Amino acid sequence: MSYAIEVEQLTKSYENKAALRGIGFKVEAGSCFGLLGPNGAGKSTTMKILSGLLEPDQGKARIFGNDLGTAANEVRKQVGYVPQSITLYEKLSAADNLVFFGEMYGVKGKELKRRIDEVLEQVGLADRAKDAVEKFSGGMKRRVNIAAALLHRPKLIIMDEPTVGIDPQSRNHIFEMIRSLQQSGVTVLYSTHYMEEVESMCDSLAIVDNGQVIAGGTLGEVMDRFGTQAVYLELQDGKAPPALAEYGKAEAKDGGWILETATPLDALADWAEVCKERSLKVKRLEMVRPSLEHVFLTLTGTTLRDN
Ligand code: ADP
Repeated sequence: MSYAIEVEQLTKSYENKAALRGIGFKVEAGSCFGLLGPNGAGKSTTMKILSGLLEPDQGKARIFGNDLGTAANEVRKQVGYVPQSITLYEKLSAADNLVFFGEMYGVKGKELKRRIDEVLEQVGLADRAKDAVEKFSGGMKRRVNIAAALLHRPKLIIMDEPTVGIDPQSRNHIFEMIRSLQQSGVTVLYSTHYMEEVESMCDSLAIVDNGQVIAGGTLGEVMDRFGTQAVYLELQDGKAPPALAEYGKAEAKDGGWILETATPLDALADWAEVCKERSLKVKRLEMVRPSLEHVFLTLTGTTLRDN
């Protein structure tokens, strides 16, 4: 198997505070990989190290087989990094901002002009090339930032929470773009707070907490290993459902009740029977697929949205 990223035992401290405590994961070439974790988990630090912007204290990282420690220049050519904070010149047009970034990446002249047209097309902003960035929405600015990271045709693109706080249209453009990048063979490393994005976009993921990977693999592997199954019951009148002592306590959720169990089919049948016996009107009764949100909560004790 060929890997775009191999990270082993990376550590990094800021002053005396450890941000990474031996983080490690592998990203298959051509895949979309999600890095998930609460605030302060170490995602940005990891991404900055992989982009060559920050040096680790210890550990190893290879990008397409090139060691970051010894082949940093080679690595920089292969990586496009989209930071969390937007760094654009507000008064300049989208295209002129990209001229600046292109020169930074060593793309020049006619090739730069051609690439600017191409990347603006890729992020869906070709018709706004000449407009000053100050007129753009937050999502459009984020897309210019992504365009900047694509100018030098990187084989790996690293995006630090690209969809946080942006409008749905820009979010959709970013998803489409990630899909088409992947189709053209580019590897994507992506961090996000939105579980559903990982569920729909990523082939594999690592859940990071406290500077370490606490769960990782393909989505299916993580779900099989950490996902609890459950049954959902909602009664017509919104009443609490009858308790099923042998299965533990149901929790209120989305207007109904959710019961976690290793034997969801039995619990569903038993709940149906008790409801029938007591002539309770059932609005919905169904097995619930384990969600990544739930896995995350179980593993880290925090929800992604409120940290
Ligand atoms: P995440 O991206 O998952 O939110 P970060 O990598 O930004 O996590 O941060 C990991 C830890 O390192 C946090 O405790 C954060 O406060 C700390 N940290 C990050 N950047 C700096 C910095 N420049 N100086 C000091 N501490 C930092």
